[in-house]
Amino acid sequence: MAPIWKASAWELSQQLAQGTLSSEEITREFLQRIEQYNDSLGAFIHVNPQALEQARQVDQRRRRGEELPPWAGVPIALKDNLCTSDQPTTCASRMLQDYISPFDATVVKRLRSQGLVVLGKTNLDEFAMGSSNETSFFGPARNPWAEDRSPGGSSGGSAVAVASGLAPWSLGSDTGGSIRLPAAFCGVLGLKPTYGRVSRWGLVAFASSLDQIGPLARSALDAALLLELIAGPDERDSTCVNQPVPRYCQVIQQPLPKLRIGWVPEQLEALEPEVQQAVQQALKVLRQQLGAELREVRLPHARFAVATYYIIAPSEASSNLARYDGIHFGYRANEQEVLAALRQEAQRLAQAGDHQAVQELDSPLVRLYRATRSQGFGTEVKRRIMLGTYALSAGYYDQYYLKALKVRRLIRQDYLDAFEQVDLIAGPVASSAAFALGEKTQDPLSMYLVDLFTVGANLAGIPALSLPCGFTGEGLPLGLQLQGPLFSEALLLQVAHHFQLHTDYHIRWPQLTEGNQRTHDRNGCQQ
Ligand code: GLN
Repeated sequence: MAPIWKASAWELSQQLAQGTLSSEEITREFLQRIEQYNDSLGAFIHVNPQALEQARQVDQRRRRGEELPPWAGVPIALKDNLCTSDQPTTCASRMLQDYISPFDATVVKRLRSQGLVVLGKTNLDEFAMGSSNETSFFGPARNPWAEDRSPGGSSGGSAVAVASGLAPWSLGSDTGGSIRLPAAFCGVLGLKPTYGRVSRWGLVAFASSLDQIGPLARSALDAALLLELIAGPDERDSTCVNQPVPRYCQVIQQPLPKLRIGWVPEQLEALEPEVQQAVQQALKVLRQQLGAELREVRLPHARFAVATYYIIAPSEASSNLARYDGIHFGYRANEQEVLAALRQEAQRLAQAGDHQAVQELDSPLVRLYRATRSQGFGTEVKRRIMLGTYALSAGYYDQYYLKALKVRRLIRQDYLDAFEQVDLIAGPVASSAAFALGEKTQDPLSMYLVDLFTVGANLAGIPALSLPCGFTGEGLPLGLQLQGPLFSEALLLQVAHHFQLHTDYHIRWPQLTEGNQRTHDRNGCQQ
């Protein structure tokens, strides 16, 4: 038999149900691999010390003859911006370095009630802001296919864990591509559901009108099962839609209907040659093996998507992150640090002639806010807060934020028009394969442009997934993006499943190097 860590979550559930494997055996194997490889990969920020005990409890319940779902006892990894009451939820930020939530996120509660065992919390860009996992306070996660490369962000740790066999599947969150980009860069499947398909309660908010939680897995079948477990209405999240959850696992295994699949010529032109080839090859599989009719479609406003996203997302973030004031949550600068920071700040402001600001520093509360927020947040988070505050400020609201909302409408309308002609759209996730760590950190704009093909789905609220569709000459994985109309997850996953029946990109494994090559720095490195 293949080793446990190579098995899909689906296969593991069957073995658990038949009693040929115990949750303890499975969980122990994944914990051992985490122990062995996490130092070099940086996939997990926190490993659950209770995981093995929780696995044993599931085994005991099953042995006692309790009626449990087959997947009870399958382990899972969770992005560290999903609240868990028994483990820290850091958002990879100094601000929440020691924060433990008093409650579980709805998705976490649902997984626990189905008997899943949480292996730990995975690395991400600080507060999910980034495309490379490099803004993490704990240092970046590393791409298992080439450790000097980024795994993509922000759900980098969740993608690395699945790609390296440190977890059979995981949850991530996607505000502008954060599930799909790491899935593409690491060679796994990642799905951003329709806005409102999955409850956001207990997901630490970045941009509330864009955020969605979704699965990362190797196979479409696993992703379908995980979506089935987490989707559905929640009285605690009023944006979560009251629509029945399809039996995704069953639906996707049915024969494909005759499909019209759209592709956008301008998107293909913008790609590096190897990526272009892989996407074209994937389109060929869709046409020849899956019998789809390919049609050219236009998304005329897509070129404004990045600009629109980088107004709306930071605006919402600046408001959402106002709660980290040193009083309600997490990090608080200590008094001496506050005073030292204050002195420096007062000098700087006086030199700049900003006397009103110097006066404000007289307030102990303002001093605490300033010191806490300057020290607790990293550079990128501060940049977003400033961008958002600016876009929302009285003189600029109409010019930036309101205008961005209008363009968002046009982008959404483009998709609605396209889906009159085709059932779904296939295309790239990113214009290149995984880039080198450090390559884009000095140039935020180049990092933002990585999101060119992914932010559209978030702005429109539609579901989109990334699935493995090839490798570069250097052996780096590439992803194909499928975008569909609202609530078309079943169709997207069905196409992905049938694509995987005809291809083998999703069953190749990277060669890992063992740990201790670097120390995963819990004290942070990027302030
Ligand atoms: N890369 C995008 C950003 O930096 C998207 C992040 C995400 O989806 N959480 O905002």
